[in-house]
Amino acid sequence: MPFVITDPCIGTKDTACVDVCPVDCIHPKKDEAEFEQATMLYIHPEECIDCGACVPACPVTAIYDSHDATPSSQKDLIPANTVYRLGDADAMAKAEAIVAAHVAAHTDLMAIDPKERQAAHT
Ligand code: SF4
Ligand code: SF4
Repeated sequence: MPFVITDPCIGTKDTACVDVCPVDCIHPKKDEAEFEQATMLYIHPEECIDCGACVPACPVTAIYDSHDATPSSQKDLIPANTVYRLGDADAMAKAEAIVAAHVAAHTDLMAIDPKERQAAHT
């Protein structure tokens, strides 16, 4: 069951998780062309080995350790993690559209500082 990045990454996107991931499955990275365009980062569900290293590294507790553990307010971001593929513009557009819809549907969460947002997940 892959790990999932959720909305506290929006507005943070500091890549601390990238630095600790042993299998390089979190993208886009700072040196990748899609980084500036990406609203948040995504975990490749088939490459993630469930090691857990990214969870304590994230300064805003954006990462959940499974689909089941992902709160209902964040489950719409699971497919964003699932569809994103580095270097695939169509996949990038699909992932970003999912994130944009999430932002539009959760103005309450977006109004909260990213550091406090995870505590408001329901
Ligand atoms: S759980 Fe491990 S392998 Fe999966 S994204 Fe986090 S650091 Fe990478
Ligand atoms: S460490 Fe957390 S906030 Fe930073 S890029 Fe990774 S998921 Fe996003």
